[in-house]
Amino acid sequence: MKIIVVGAGLAGLVATRALQQFGHEITLIEASDGIGGRVRSDVVDGFTLDRGFQVLFDAYPAVQSWLSLPELELCPFDPGAVICRHGQTSVLTDPLRDLPASWAAIWSNAATPFDKLRLLLLSRSLTRWSSAQLWDGPDISTLAYLRQRRFSTRIIEWFFAPFYGGIFLDRSLSTSAKCFLFDLKMLAEGRTVIPSRGMGAIPQQLAEGFVAAQTTLRCNTAVVGLVHEETRVVGVRLNDGHALIADAVVLAVPAPIAQQLAGLALPSEAKGTITLYWEGDTALTTNRKLWLNANSDTFVNNACQLSAIAPHYAPAGRHLLSASVLGVPEYSDDELYAAAEADLQRMLDYDPAAQQAFSRYRRLRIYRIPYAQFAQPPGIHPTLPANRTSQAGLYLAGEYTEASSIDAAMTSGEKVAKIVHHDLTTPNH
Ligand SMILES: Cc1cc2nc3c(=O)[nH]c(=O)nc-3n(C[C@H](O)[C@H](O)[C@H](O)COP(=O)(O)OP(=O)(O)OC[C@H]3O[C@@H](n4cnc5c(N)ncnc54)[C@H](O)[C@@H]3O)c2cc1C
Repeated sequence: MKIIVVGAGLAGLVATRALQQFGHEITLIEASDGIGGRVRSDVVDGFTLDRGFQVLFDAYPAVQSWLSLPELELCPFDPGAVICRHGQTSVLTDPLRDLPASWAAIWSNAATPFDKLRLLLLSRSLTRWSSAQLWDGPDISTLAYLRQRRFSTRIIEWFFAPFYGGIFLDRSLSTSAKCFLFDLKMLAEGRTVIPSRGMGAIPQQLAEGFVAAQTTLRCNTAVVGLVHEETRVVGVRLNDGHALIADAVVLAVPAPIAQQLAGLALPSEAKGTITLYWEGDTALTTNRKLWLNANSDTFVNNACQLSAIAPHYAPAGRHLLSASVLGVPEYSDDELYAAAEADLQRMLDYDPAAQQAFSRYRRLRIYRIPYAQFAQPPGIHPTLPANRTSQAGLYLAGEYTEASSIDAAMTSGEKVAKIVHHDLTTPNH
């Protein structure tokens, strides 16, 4: 059967691979000049710059099923984080997985001894829960959940707000506690990693599995509408004026675009972020942890010396630094860099040598991503759309049918392929 998949992000790529395995013929249409969607990397002056700082949890179930992890040459972060506040740093980590830092973590003033014990017990208990159990049942915000579990205000403000704020792009911790628990489970069960050649290696590997006889990829081609035959969707209209006809159409575009194309109400509230990159001749740290900004009135939420984690991200002898800002304030590049540099200098107050070295760093590039994730308030997940729509022939794939993550996008792609295959091969459907 002939199937059109619109959008070559992770959801569209996995959908294409899975449909190909079922023996179908797929045309994958992508509006931009390449594959990967929100997971792409650029090479600038020999530096690998992900289009927005992001990481992979190698325990993600869909990642385990669809990627050959050894070939990605994964570079792990060390567990936990360095908390920067008022010119001092402290380390919080998982003592069972990070022995070298556990002594420092025991003495860290970022959390009470009870906090450390509670966090350890919670993350261990999550390894005994299935993912399905985690997503079930009533929901509250991450903040309400942490308070319910009697975590102190200090660990909430110093650690959870910047750490999970960086993951959900929401420092207020108003995101669903289901997301928090799922990610804590992933952190407890696996590593936080980046591929040695950039996050863009993930979609590249998925596309390497395309079989030319079954899959045609068309980049720089946007779908601008659907073609109907009576009530059935039978194809798509392209921006070059042509139409393509198929047995089924899978929309694997971000929710706001799927909403426009399909006329369906889909989750559309956006969480945005900005990533800034610098390079320099001296490493600010050899630490492989994320740095969290635990000051009040923050501009930068988190930062990291990426080349300490993945040396190929920088040419030999050079060092790459990234910083993430939550939201997309309307600043010029200069204003963004100036505000971020001031905040990073404040985070580095504990180390004058690092401050000196950073003042010599060169600005590389800024990425503004107004739609990085969709907002996930408590209770949203059971209301997310199904892959099968009420319009015959039309299907949805994308993170927004599951949750906002790499795992969710890939899971959605896998699920939609099974449903499309079922519908096309079941008589009278
Ligand atoms: C900065 C940032 C940080 C993140 N951090 C993390 C993280 O640390 N961990 C994590 O798990 N997740 C993270 N995420 C989220 C994760 O990257 C996304 O959830 C996931 O990549 C979404 O994949 P998708 O296939 O659903 O959508 P997309 O990647 O958005 O793919 C949709 C594709 O459709 C194409 N398209 C759009 N309109 C059309 C059209 N009309 N015609 C044809 N093609 C079209 C787009 O160009 C795009 O390629 C982050 C995202 C960003 C941006």
